[in-house]
Amino acid sequence: MSISLQQPALHDLTKLERIGAHSHIRGLGLDDHLNPRPVGSGMVGQTKARRAAGLILKMVQEGRIAGRAILMAGPAGSGKTAIAMGMAQELGPDVPFTSIAASEVYSLSMSKTEALTQAFRRSIGVQIKEETEIIEGEVVEIQIDRSLTGATKTGKLTLKTTDMETVYDLGNKMIDSLTKEKVLAGDVIAIDKASGRISKLGRSFARSRDYDAMGADTKFVQCPEGEIQKRREVTHTISLHEIDVINSRTQGFLALFAGDTGEISPELRDQIDTKINEWREESKATLTPGILFIDEVHMLDIECFSFINRKLEEELAPIVVMASNRGMAKVRGTGYKAPHGLPVDLLDRVMIVRTGPYSADEIEGIIKIRCQEEDTSISNEAVAVLTKMAQETTLRYALQLISCADVLARRRKAKEVDRQDLQRAYVYFNDEKRSAQWLREQGGGLLVWDMDVKVDGEE
Ligand code: ATP
Repeated sequence: MSISLQQPALHDLTKLERIGAHSHIRGLGLDDHLNPRPVGSGMVGQTKARRAAGLILKMVQEGRIAGRAILMAGPAGSGKTAIAMGMAQELGPDVPFTSIAASEVYSLSMSKTEALTQAFRRSIGVQIKEETEIIEGEVVEIQIDRSLTGATKTGKLTLKTTDMETVYDLGNKMIDSLTKEKVLAGDVIAIDKASGRISKLGRSFARSRDYDAMGADTKFVQCPEGEIQKRREVTHTISLHEIDVINSRTQGFLALFAGDTGEISPELRDQIDTKINEWREESKATLTPGILFIDEVHMLDIECFSFINRKLEEELAPIVVMASNRGMAKVRGTGYKAPHGLPVDLLDRVMIVRTGPYSADEIEGIIKIRCQEEDTSISNEAVAVLTKMAQETTLRYALQLISCADVLARRRKAKEVDRQDLQRAYVYFNDEKRSAQWLREQGGGLLVWDMDVKVDGEE
């Protein structure tokens, strides 16, 4: 079977991070010895967990571990996802990082095990080495080095192509310009002496007859075969899942854009695995297990957990990093409770990394970083108010107020967000505690909304 790898310049779409909740995270903020800086790469505090994440990364990068599972356990808003994003940033482009929320596994279009299989295969990178004979390249730059000796011009033509640089000694051919053209070894280039225009005639240009037809004002240069045919190795990186999709859909790689991956047959995957194993034996391909991050992992059920357990046994499993903010919780699909909502046999094999609540200083640090990220000027007093709010509500709630307060500050044409903008934003948007309080006051009946919501201070 021949498998197709044709792909556009496309990286896993899940890697594209919008300006979103974690866009300020640029890495784990560790030094060369994996010691966490108190503040670094957008990360603040949580030093033990960051160091643990750094160690895991190191092992992944050195290829020393595969098939391990890590559980990040800690309260909501304690940076579990932020640390996972930091890991993703540190990994570099050749090691895949896939992030899913456990609830994504439940879909009508595919089974849970298929969704998990796709997530696993997205997290395994395949580096394919190809020894290519470069015989063509788009001309990206031309330098003509000319000198006049008597009546003739001599010169060198340097073709800088996308892949290489080739210098042609042109003898006494006159060269003034060359349009952007694909040039193949053996192609004949025609140079119009009067205008200096150069055109490519291709290999099949029949010398005597066609040359005559071009007239005496045209000079010809034939790109030398020997010089342009250089060999070199190129390496493509693609995920196993991308190879599956490209080979399972008639529209090939376009299916990746459409997100129309559907279910992929096990037979096709077997064929792909066999082929890739052959390439590995021939040293044409290497496989790099990356990281699969599963957020809200307690949302998975016992079938998913047992599937993951089995997957982790495979020779080339990615590192599975899971996150849960639950304490003792029911394992979905069973009648029993277990720590973090994970079955005990899986729990037994995971390395648990804990994240804890933040100090006021750390919260303040995170708030300042977020304000910078959102391009929001904020007074010191407002930072202090927001820090207090984060302590009394949640960090996530406080961070969300930044952009609301920024809009309000701009409406009153203020240069920076201050206390009053935060107060108004706080009135408009309830945090979880106030929302629960309000529900209690409604006596539990919320089926019909019949409220005339008036907002203080609005025209
Ligand atoms: P949950 O259990 O609710 O999913 P979580 O532990 O995954 O919560 P995050 O989503 O990572 O929490 O954190 C909430 C917000 O705070 C995010 O915007 C995150 O980027 C930011 N944040 C959390 N911890 C840090 C940190 N140590 N440094 C910088 N930003 C952080």
